Amino acid sequence: MSTLPVIQHLIHGDLVDGGSRTQPVYNPATGQVQKTLLLADTATVEQAIASAQSAYPAWRATPPLKRARVMSKLKNLLEENAAGICALVTAEHGKVLADAMGELQRGIENVEYASYAPELLKGEHSKNAGPGIDSWSEFQPLGVTAGITPFNFPVMVPLWMWPMAVVCGNTFILKPSERDPSSALLVAQLALQAGLPPGVLNVVHGDKEAVDALLADKRVHAVSFVGSTPIAESIYATGCANGKRVQALGGAKNHAVVMPDADITNAVTALMGAAYGSCGERCMAIPLVVAVGDATADAVVAGLKVEIAKMRVGPGTHARSDMGPLVTKAHRDKVKAYVDQGVQEGTTLVVDGRNAVVQGYEEGYFLGPCLFDNVKPGMVIYQEEIFGPVLGVVRVKTLQEAMDLIDAHEYGNGTCIFTRDGEAARYFTDNILVGMVGVNVPLPVPVAYHSFGGWKRSLFGDLGAYGPDAVRFYTKRKTISQRWPSAGVREGVAFSFPSNR
Ligand code: NAD
Repeated sequence: MSTLPVIQHLIHGDLVDGGSRTQPVYNPATGQVQKTLLLADTATVEQAIASAQSAYPAWRATPPLKRARVMSKLKNLLEENAAGICALVTAEHGKVLADAMGELQRGIENVEYASYAPELLKGEHSKNAGPGIDSWSEFQPLGVTAGITPFNFPVMVPLWMWPMAVVCGNTFILKPSERDPSSALLVAQLALQAGLPPGVLNVVHGDKEAVDALLADKRVHAVSFVGSTPIAESIYATGCANGKRVQALGGAKNHAVVMPDADITNAVTALMGAAYGSCGERCMAIPLVVAVGDATADAVVAGLKVEIAKMRVGPGTHARSDMGPLVTKAHRDKVKAYVDQGVQEGTTLVVDGRNAVVQGYEEGYFLGPCLFDNVKPGMVIYQEEIFGPVLGVVRVKTLQEAMDLIDAHEYGNGTCIFTRDGEAARYFTDNILVGMVGVNVPLPVPVAYHSFGGWKRSLFGDLGAYGPDAVRFYTKRKTISQRWPSAGVREGVAFSFPSNR
């Protein structure tokens, strides 16, 4: 009989069973199964929704300042428990501990922003909008809301969602990735410890069945999704068809342009982290470099080759490791197959990481860094999101050619330009069809008090994640016009449309 720990759902403040199906959770560095995850069935999801609905009236009526204080306490608890949370991230996702710490810190900053809720929810007021009429807009919560999150930021992406949802007065059901669910569950338990009442935040584990149940249920008013584009698109369509507000953030293929005048040494250093950090499993990773001019391309490729040779691939728990394993064996094999395909497509494989072996971790899902030169638009490895440690260099002649390539790509999540030319940088940031743009900043992930969102097929919906957009997403505006006529003053009937004419 299996003695593996079982990961349960968190419903109404308690860890509970639910659903008869289970799934193993692996340690990607060793290839060993370490836990068993319960997969929620529809009845379990409905139980979580009922809990969230029952908690909603009292939570909605709780003053925003009191809701915000829970976030302040949670921030402290997250800092105190950082080592334990990051150990879970590394054990299930595989990323190196320092990277997990960075992810957690970004998540904590979202909790910090959520603690400003009273200020964010103040609304707008106009005196004398008409004669003796005062008008104001307030931002009311939606009710029960839900979030579905990807494997690659198991602790940060949930924190993009539910802290803002709950400080705005909603209750929330989180469905974390089934591949690495433990850190999000621990954070939810810490939120209860911080004072979040039972039912305000529930966590259900599961797969399509759980997601479908959330999308079908009329009691769920809004759904936030982050994951791959095909699933994002389908969740957006189904959620909208079912009358819900939906934001669905999808995949990416981010290009970095390197101009001939760029500081190549610094650009190469920046590209290393952006391409190979977290094994390339980031939606803001840079998998493509567009080098303007052959001399630039030659210098970038030569610089990358030197830096890659210094990289240490190993388990995320080792302080010496720069890059851990990929998340699953299936994903590692898929990424490897993309590298094979790149070779078949006629690119130049400058660095081949396909045979990487980590001593003592032979069953781990490791792949060494790979570098392609002469990648061309139209090739599969140019077009598709690989989500692995694979960087391709594309050679172009002009900045405009580079920008045309980026604009023609189906994704528009992030991009960046390396240059010393302010005019080129300004032209690029003004015109490029991408949602998040860096100038000599390889990973332009907005801070918690801005909002995160790509363009084109990287985001379905109108509002991005966290920051000011999240206040709008998790609330509905109500505008009230009010007057108090003096007693006894009579007014005639007016058939013309009221205005300040
Ligand atoms: P994924 O789409 O496989 O899964 C995301 C979530 O959807 C998981 O919770 C999963 O259980 C659920 N899911 C999977 N298949 C489903 C189905 N058929 N029906 C309903 N739900 C389903 O994504 P992933 O592999 O976990 O994450 C990687 C992807 O996420 C990459 O494409 C990456 O670019 C993207 N991502 C995007 C952003 C962004 O902000 N744009 C951020 C992080 C990750």
